[in-house]
Amino acid sequence: MNSEAEILKKIDVILEEALKGLKNSRNLTELENNFKVFSGKKGELSLILHSIHSFSPEEKKNIGSKSNFAKKTIEDAYLLRKGELIAVEKSGKAARFIDLTIPGPSIEKIHAHPITAVLEDTVSFFSSMGFEIVEGPEIETTYYNFDALNIPANHPARDVWDTFYLLNGLVARTHTSSVQVRTMERKKPPLRVIAPGRCYRYEAVDATHLFMFNQIEGLYIDENVRLSDLKGILEATVRHLLGAKKTRFRPAFYPFVEPGLDLDIECVFCGGKGCGICKNTGWIEVIPCGMVHPNVFKYAKIDPDKYRGFAFGMGFDRIVMLKYNINDLRYLYQCNLDMLTQF
Ligand SMILES: [Zn+2]
Repeated sequence: MNSEAEILKKIDVILEEALKGLKNSRNLTELENNFKVFSGKKGELSLILHSIHSFSPEEKKNIGSKSNFAKKTIEDAYLLRKGELIAVEKSGKAARFIDLTIPGPSIEKIHAHPITAVLEDTVSFFSSMGFEIVEGPEIETTYYNFDALNIPANHPARDVWDTFYLLNGLVARTHTSSVQVRTMERKKPPLRVIAPGRCYRYEAVDATHLFMFNQIEGLYIDENVRLSDLKGILEATVRHLLGAKKTRFRPAFYPFVEPGLDLDIECVFCGGKGCGICKNTGWIEVIPCGMVHPNVFKYAKIDPDKYRGFAFGMGFDRIVMLKYNINDLRYLYQCNLDMLTQF
């Protein structure tokens, strides 16, 4: 014969085992079986209640109250687990326990658009060399876009920069070089600036041409700026941005510089052997540049006998294409996540 204390203790053990069994049930059949063992009509709790008819009323009351509490708790646990298992069977997914120690779902890693990422890198690279970032308007007067850059109205070089003219005579700027003159008017030398921004040309759209593109203009003016400064800074730039090991400078004509140059890098695709992208030359042109033309200084009211400087205009989309091996410029502007998330 068990005492009241022993019975009460037994109820505690039954409750503990029942909760454990219900919680660990892996499917509805297992759950029903577990529930019957502890709480059904022939369950362990019922058997206890049948065995207490010889106890005093006071003892019966205590045991009954404890047993009812256990029964209710087991029923609640049964219903909770049943709901979970039904949800699992419906969704076919694993049971959802609230376990605060499990790490949360991983968040998809995102990054800046390739153009933005390389632009930020370029800007910080030039900042580290003491260059300041300046900006100018995308809709520009013909004075700043052409005349002040030594491209007068009747000069054939204007044809090269064919663009969109607005009805009021303004133009969508064809290069960021227009910011050069605006900056020289505003600030007196010495100055070191870069001007990133969008430019526009009247172009038929294909894999390497768009009506809109990004450019970074650079301008460095001081009393003793030399061609060797241009060479050193631009070589460091292509080394930093594209990992270019071999470079070369070729003479080129741009009305706003004298002498004018093109900086080529060894083709990053074929290593200089010659391929379709470098047109079998082994070289890729990346940065048009040169020493600022004295006429440009005169337009900006800077004394060309006292100051000298160099300027460059880097087609920025092209740098991004070379860096990431993208063979069609249009991909950069199509907002296609499948393409953009590769980088
Ligand atoms: Zn090549």
